[in-house]
Amino acid sequence: MRRPVLSGPPLANHVHGWAHSPASQTGHVFRYLPAEVSKISARGQRREYASLCGFKVTADARWPMLGIGTWPHCSRCAKKYGRSPNNTERTTFLEVMNHG
Ligand SMILES: [Zn+2]
Repeated sequence: MRRPVLSGPPLANHVHGWAHSPASQTGHVFRYLPAEVSKISARGQRREYASLCGFKVTADARWPMLGIGTWPHCSRCAKKYGRSPNNTERTTFLEVMNHG
């Protein structure tokens, strides 16, 4: 019997940290990419995110970034970032990308 997997609440203004994207079966450390042009679509504003382990997702009103809930943590993100929800004191995303 599978353990139920539940996402947390929508994170409309997620900037940096553990989150779950509906596009993935795993929770990742996502960082908002304000440099990417935010496109306005019929479903509202879209926001681009990059995970520490290197893929990009788009969030919008229909598929928002969600709290990680009980999704498994991505092992590659956890290795770089740790598992605490907001680990910004330890390291920043850019430091990880440059030196990790
Ligand atoms: Zn990851």
